[in-house]
Amino acid sequence: MPFINGKRLLHHAYANGYGVGAFSAHNAETVLAIIEAAEEEQSPIMIQVGQKVIQTLGMEPLKMLIDWYGRNASIPISIHLDHSREFKQTMRAIQSGFQSVMFDGSALSFEENTSLTQKVVDIARSLDIGAEGEIGKIGGTEDDITVNEKDALITTTEEAASFVKATDVDYLAVSIGTAHGIYKETPNIRFERLSEISKAVERPIVLHGGSDVPDEQVQKAISLGVAKINVDTELRQAFTYGVQKVFEENNQEFVLAHSLGSGKNYMKEKVKEKIKIFDSANKANAVLQDQ
Ligand SMILES: [Zn+2]
Repeated sequence: MPFINGKRLLHHAYANGYGVGAFSAHNAETVLAIIEAAEEEQSPIMIQVGQKVIQTLGMEPLKMLIDWYGRNASIPISIHLDHSREFKQTMRAIQSGFQSVMFDGSALSFEENTSLTQKVVDIARSLDIGAEGEIGKIGGTEDDITVNEKDALITTTEEAASFVKATDVDYLAVSIGTAHGIYKETPNIRFERLSEISKAVERPIVLHGGSDVPDEQVQKAISLGVAKINVDTELRQAFTYGVQKVFEENNQEFVLAHSLGSGKNYMKEKVKEKIKIFDSANKANAVLQDQ
C-alpha cells in the first residue's frame, strides 16, 4: 500500500534536505492531478483535505476518493487533515484512516492549544499516524477564517520550544512571514527566526501559505528545516485557469469532462513544477525503502 505515516514520510525529507508538497484536493479531478503528477515525478506527497471541502463534499467521501485513486500508486502518500480546529473532527479523521492530522489550536490560549495538541499527538502516535500542531498565528484567509495582518504574529523561538517540549508534536507549523490566500505583495520569510526555531525544536517545520512564495525563498527555508510545504491557492488558480480556457474558446462547451479535464491538466503541471522546486522528484523509492 502506498499510504504511510506522515511522520515517517516527512522524516525522510527532513533528514535528506528536501521538501514534500502538501497539495490540497477539492474533487476527483484535483485528486487525480496530484497523484498523476507525483507518479510521473516519482515523488512522495501529502494530499490535504481542508475545511472548505469538508463542508461541501464531506471528509469521508474525499478520503475514499483518494484511497481509490491512490491505491495502486508506486509512490508514498500521506492523506492529511488540514487546519482542524475541533478535537472531535481530528478524531474523526483518525478513525477514518488519515495518515496525518493537523490540530490547529493557534486561536486558543497557549495552555489550551498545548493541552489539546498533546492529546491529539498521544492518540495519533498510538495509531501510527503523524500529527502537526501550530504555534503563532499565520495571516491571511483560509476556510473563511481571516487573520488580520496585525493579528498575524511571528512565532517566537521560546513559545515554539515550549510548545514542542509540552506536546512532542511530530511537525510544527509556525508563523514566519507567509500567509494563506493571495499575496498583496511578495512575502518575505523571516529566515533568522526560522533558523532559530528549527534549531530549538529539532523536527520538521511546516510552511503554510506556500503559494507564490519565491522559489529561492522556499528552497532556503527547506535548507533550514522546512520539510512540508502547503500549496493550495496556486493549484486552484491553475485548475480554474484551465477550465476558463475551455470556455473562452467555446462558451457552449457543456461536456464537463472537457472543461474539468483541462483544469486537471493545468493543475497537474503546477504540481510537477512544485515537486521540482522542492527537490522531492525521484525520492519515492528511497522513502519506501526507508520504512
Ligand atoms: Zn495553513
